[in-house]
Amino acid sequence: MTDQFVHEQPGTAEPASPSVPQREAIVDLATLAENAATLARHARGAELMAVVKADAYGHGLVPAARALVAGGASRLGTAVIEEALELRRAGIGVPVLAWLAAPGAPLEAAIRADVDLAAYTLEQLVELRRAADRAGRRVRVHLKIDTGMWRGGSTVTLWPQLVAAARDAEREGSVDVVGIWSHMACADDPGHPSIGEQLGVFREAVRLAESAGLRPEVRHIANSAATLSSPESHWDMVRPGIACYGVDPVPPQQRSGHPLLRPAMTLSAAVVQTKRAPVGSGISYGHTHVTDHDTTLAVVPLGYADGIPRHASSRGDVLVRGHRVPVLGRVCMDQFVVDTGDLPVAPGDRVLVFGPGDTGEPTAQDWADAAGTIPYEVLTRVAPRVPRRHIG
Ligand SMILES: *Cc1c(COP(=O)(O)O)cnc(C)c1O
Repeated sequence: MTDQFVHEQPGTAEPASPSVPQREAIVDLATLAENAATLARHARGAELMAVVKADAYGHGLVPAARALVAGGASRLGTAVIEEALELRRAGIGVPVLAWLAAPGAPLEAAIRADVDLAAYTLEQLVELRRAADRAGRRVRVHLKIDTGMWRGGSTVTLWPQLVAAARDAEREGSVDVVGIWSHMACADDPGHPSIGEQLGVFREAVRLAESAGLRPEVRHIANSAATLSSPESHWDMVRPGIACYGVDPVPPQQRSGHPLLRPAMTLSAAVVQTKRAPVGSGISYGHTHVTDHDTTLAVVPLGYADGIPRHASSRGDVLVRGHRVPVLGRVCMDQFVVDTGDLPVAPGDRVLVFGPGDTGEPTAQDWADAAGTIPYEVLTRVAPRVPRRHIG
């Protein structure tokens, strides 16, 4: 049988025509810089460490970090060492702290790249000293006290030993304790009794460290919510993440005195197909939605593999042609269906999934509310398959 299809020979293909973005996340770097400036002003003299873990909350690690530094962040924070090393490879020179390392993490590479590291325990301090010896230079360490979140950090009981061992290591020349720090559990609920309790434990831990002879550059405990709501938590440096990206984690009714922040990411896609569906049509997997009137459906090429929460099935909505229209039925891996009613929607029309909200589009917060999660998860889940386009 002869080949039914004509195969193109290499080099004979038509030049590619400029393609329409099927899906994209536009990240406004000017907005990130403005948010950093706003937070630096709000912190009134405390340093700003912009947290850029998780690919800068989905915004693109290196461009976002550069914009935040341009806006006023004097330091950057990451969770894992690989993220910090990527910042260094991009030539970013401000102090960077990476705070999460299990045994066997690439500590020596981090020390050679002048990345600050955290110690929660004596064992970690020993591992840091060994890595510093191998690297042939001192390691800059932030000692972490667990002030009541019961996640990472030294227990209050073991803190005096950790402090004493760190002081000894400083004298022996392998360690510089540059930070004393902690993390807050309930700062997004201003007035929660744990806030004052954690700050009290932190004050005492700092006092103990200083009376043992430690002289850290920075004492820090404030995440976004504490930066915005709790001036007594600022100490020498604040450490916001989500606020840099324009999301206030405190519920609107509790935001007294908060500055305005602006979401920096806009997620959109182009409509693939539209079709009329009569009353009684079962939509998407499982037919969990059945139309109760004749309507027009549009297929949007984004799914849970792109970061659209499946829990927002039949709950989220999007903006198309200036109107909010609802998701119908289940969000699939790569696509979902919206009900465009009698709007004149056509294939190729832009669908705004979320953005700053200025033109009536939903925000990441709206999607989080629809899916029963938090905007942090909505932003950080936007998948690598969705191209980021940096503007501003
Ligand atoms: C993620 C994180 C932050 C930033 O938290 P936000 O709530 O996004 O401001 C600060 N510090 C540590 C240790 C973190 O893990």
